[in-house]
Amino acid sequence: MDPTIYLVFVDDWELSGDGSGNPRTLQFQPMRELVSIYNRHGISGSFNAEIMQQLAFREWGQNNPQLKAWADEWDQIVCETFKQGHDVQLHIHPQWSDARFEDGRWKLNGDWSILNYPADEARRMIAAGQQYLENLLRPINPDYRCVSFRSGSWCIAPSPHILTLLAEAGIVFDMSIVGGVRYHTRRIDLDYRNCEEDFLPYYPHMTDARKVSERAEPIVSIPTNHFYGSRRSTLQHHTRKAMAVVKSRTARKEGAASGARTVQSYGHEWAQADASLVDRLYSKGIQPYLKGRHLISDLAQMDYQLMREMLASIRRRARDAGAGPVPVILENHTKDIHDFSHIERFVAEVAGASDIKCMTLTGIAAGIQRGQFQIKTRTK
Ligand SMILES: [Zn+2]
Repeated sequence: MDPTIYLVFVDDWELSGDGSGNPRTLQFQPMRELVSIYNRHGISGSFNAEIMQQLAFREWGQNNPQLKAWADEWDQIVCETFKQGHDVQLHIHPQWSDARFEDGRWKLNGDWSILNYPADEARRMIAAGQQYLENLLRPINPDYRCVSFRSGSWCIAPSPHILTLLAEAGIVFDMSIVGGVRYHTRRIDLDYRNCEEDFLPYYPHMTDARKVSERAEPIVSIPTNHFYGSRRSTLQHHTRKAMAVVKSRTARKEGAASGARTVQSYGHEWAQADASLVDRLYSKGIQPYLKGRHLISDLAQMDYQLMREMLASIRRRARDAGAGPVPVILENHTKDIHDFSHIERFVAEVAGASDIKCMTLTGIAAGIQRGQFQIKTRTK
């Protein structure tokens, strides 16, 4: 019998990494759209609400009615989503830690990686985020807790203290590791090419989440899924994206002032901040095609065909692992979704699959705590 896959539809819910963009077009509207898709198919999704942004909007909103209105609307839609049975969990982009709002735009001066902050500063950010979400959501559900963590720009390892701080804060699992990812840029430097486990949940080495510990630890790592797309659909997909870039550039030249993100401002602008359009097209399009089509399972970046390949890869790996039920974390960025029809088709398919159960992050944390999933240690 095929192992049951506990699939989590996760979304990193935030503005662009440099603070640009309109919260209504990049966050509020697409979140409602995504939630209505989940509701239509009877599944619960999970949103990693980027909290440093909201704290900056709150602080600067004291003297700016527009920022305050957006911050209020943020609270309102998060509560509305949570009330409908979807999950909201902790996501931190520390570049907002020293944000200033000047001349109608944000200037983010903080370092982009939480790993570059001293332990007490990192602890303060985690606590502030946790407190904000728990204060907001406990009136709706007194049992609400922050139980999972996704680090901004995937920065989680190595670090002498970050996993310990998260465990101390009561976080049950982290999902910031993505096997095979490597960024070396002005803002972000991380190397996950040699992770010891990139699919199953495991106890991480407490100072380096890329390694599997020899023993049970106070926190679990569940990698965010990645896979290798076929040459055919990867090429088709990137051709379509390249066309969309050309189209959106033309549209901008024609003065179409849309608040939507264009393809070239893809969610990883933090990683390739200095790169030219050609470099970015190369690293997002051509390079993965040549180097094995390695893809993060980020639904906003995929069409339906690629999503099906992703699912086939997940089923294959779950079977090969032979380890009973497996939690699988998908990624998404509402700010990057241009066409919801692919996601809706995929959600409909998954909702009807007998070997898949859609779960929230809170559900996965509860599963870990009652021993539902096998958690790897190095000796096993
Ligand atoms: Zn993020």
